[in-house]
Amino acid sequence: MINDCFLKLSGAYLFSEIAQKVKAYKAEAPRADIISLGIGDVTQPLCPAVIEALHKATDEMAVAASFRGYGPERGYDFLREAIVANDFQARGIDIEADEVFISDGAKSDTGNFQELLSKDVRIAVTDPVYPVYVDSNMMAGREIVYLPCTAENGFVPQPPKEHVDVIYLCYPNNPTGTTLTRDQLKMWVDYALQNNALIFYDAAYEAYIQSEDVPHSIYEIPGAKQCAVEFHSYSKTAGFTGIRCGYTVVPKGLKVNLNPLWNRRQSTKFNGTSYLSQRAAEAIYTPEGKTQVKATIAYYMENARLMREVLTDMGFIVYGGVDAPYLWVRTPNGMKSWEFFDWMLRSAHVVCTPGVGFGSAGEGYVRLTAFGTHENTQEALRRVNDKL
Ligand code: PLP
Repeated sequence: MINDCFLKLSGAYLFSEIAQKVKAYKAEAPRADIISLGIGDVTQPLCPAVIEALHKATDEMAVAASFRGYGPERGYDFLREAIVANDFQARGIDIEADEVFISDGAKSDTGNFQELLSKDVRIAVTDPVYPVYVDSNMMAGREIVYLPCTAENGFVPQPPKEHVDVIYLCYPNNPTGTTLTRDQLKMWVDYALQNNALIFYDAAYEAYIQSEDVPHSIYEIPGAKQCAVEFHSYSKTAGFTGIRCGYTVVPKGLKVNLNPLWNRRQSTKFNGTSYLSQRAAEAIYTPEGKTQVKATIAYYMENARLMREVLTDMGFIVYGGVDAPYLWVRTPNGMKSWEFFDWMLRSAHVVCTPGVGFGSAGEGYVRLTAFGTHENTQEALRRVNDKL
């Protein structure tokens, strides 16, 4: 009766497993003051421009003349137009509003997009990887090819020997916090064009890019509009993990005509992101919104800078954290990821994410996030230093 592909999935979603371990430890040591640098949730409040937009939209909902019910299936024009103007045209990229689909976040879209593919396509993902790409394709019973990203290859995935039809790329990367330069991303676009493959490009952390030679969108690369779908999220850009809003770009020029199919899928299974969330997202593109969002990103990136500096001084080997809010830290003394997780939890009362939870190439690493408060981040570093 059931889809037995679900039975092949790993027992629990990684973060549920971590939460259970933390809960068990709290029961053992109820007075332990635990700092989480584990799950990638944000800690800073929504910026004033977003709050103002939410209040205004709420007031509109209270009056019959401005009340909104179901919205347009691809999202409101006001938001899709702001996206096109600010995220694409401002970078010299020609994307049209009917190529943009507003979503309730990138998790749903990165998880659901595979529904447009036939069961027998071969999927490639990086290892380590954001688990949603793997699990959603496993639920559909597809074969998955892993592209190891290791310190040896500079965390740059190399094309597989066998043919693959779809490659999921996520840059800036979760979990390693590393990026691809324009040339490295061009190599993948060229690969996709030559091999009739599609790239599903997850740009959820694009707003954290500081370096000039790191592309913010795959469409900065010539030819990408023929082979790439791009996912965006406001979760980390503007603290929308609780508000829920993102978008997906499905170009009309794709070699495989997915734009009408995604529209068909969404209009059948998705009833839109709330009007309030979309007005909140629109506010990020106002001059005040832009300045305020940048300030919060700078706040988190200051944590990343500090963590890189202090951990490196302590003797840790650290990757990422320059153009991304994640640090990928080699465990000391050859410890396994979960072993170091336990040590961090029990000795320093700090929660990290075991790298192996993102794939076998993540063994021997942990991921730390820069989304804490300055105070907690400093305190966590102090504790690790004291207990080492
Ligand atoms: N993609 C990546 C790589 C992520 O790390 C996350 C969130 O952690 C998401 C997508 C999901 O974001 P959202 O909150 O928009 O669903």
